[in-house]
Amino acid sequence: MYDIAIIGKGPAGISAAINAFARNKSVILFGSDSKKVILSPSIPNYPGLPDIKGVDFAKRLEDHLSSTNVETSSKKVNAIYSMGNYFSIQAEKDVYEAETVILATGVDFKKSIEGEDSFLGMGVSYCATCDAPLYKGKITTVIGYNEESYKEADFLSEICTKVYFVPVFKMEYNFNSNVEIINDTPLRFEGSMKADRLVMKNSEILADGFFVIKDSYPVSSLVPGLEVDGPHVVVNRSMETNIKGLYAAGDITGRPYQIAKAVGEGQIAVLSACDYLDKKASQ
Ligand SMILES: Cc1cc2nc3c(=O)[nH]c(=O)nc-3n(C[C@H](O)[C@H](O)[C@H](O)COP(=O)(O)OP(=O)(O)OC[C@H]3O[C@@H](n4cnc5c(N)ncnc54)[C@H](O)[C@@H]3O)c2cc1C
Repeated sequence: MYDIAIIGKGPAGISAAINAFARNKSVILFGSDSKKVILSPSIPNYPGLPDIKGVDFAKRLEDHLSSTNVETSSKKVNAIYSMGNYFSIQAEKDVYEAETVILATGVDFKKSIEGEDSFLGMGVSYCATCDAPLYKGKITTVIGYNEESYKEADFLSEICTKVYFVPVFKMEYNFNSNVEIINDTPLRFEGSMKADRLVMKNSEILADGFFVIKDSYPVSSLVPGLEVDGPHVVVNRSMETNIKGLYAAGDITGRPYQIAKAVGEGQIAVLSACDYLDKKASQ
């Protein structure tokens, strides 16, 4: 059981991890390097580092994190369940436990496909690795927003009779022969009890299951019962959410979407988590 699980390896998550290390807590940090930081051509407003390039800032964050003993995992977290006194964290095929959780997953700017939320768990999935067994010998569709989606489509093609791949970005990749690439714009999922059709701008696909593979997902699908306001998690000034022991920091808590704000919130969130852990231990 970890003291603190941090979900997200951007500035907010790394700031939380560094401060948790300083407070001598056992920590696991999930996520891959922040694409937003890497894509920043130059960062003119981070105090003390004028006009640093995004890639250089990312390297500094990584170096600082490596100087701690924080355990890291590039696994994607698919669900976080509050078990009352601790949290159960499902990361791809594995389950982790932590007394507190800090959500620092950033904000997903990509619009959801209509019906994505309502059919989630009913024909629509965010994780091929987790849900593939349900679709053995069946037809599936992958709507891919990132390079990870290639691997997910490849994996599905080994157990499904047919996989349609709808790329939502420019791509070149050699798939297995039962993967068909469909270049069209997804509009909505349709079905009655479960999603069975993806309607696109110029065509549609009938399939048994649909996998939407992107870098981050609507936060409401990650933590059942979490209070949200649109794409943002509702927090107070201590970065506490409505769930005891669960904190949020960075872009996910709302505007402004800025590195300095993310770093500050990551620190506040972890100090609040430490207070909570210390009080729990003394009870
Ligand atoms: C082009 C561009 C230029 C920018 N320029 C500036 C600038 O000059 N100055 C400035 O202050 N800000 C700038 N920003 C904004 C800044 O990059 C963000 O505010 C900042 O990165 C937010 O940090 P964050 O830690 O909240 O989230 P992010 O940096 O978005 O990090 C999110 C992390 O969560 C992880 N994650 C998401 N979902 C999951 C999951 N389910 N499981 C595991 N991990 C997950 C991701 O892998 C990533 O590590 C810019 C952004 C862009 C796109």
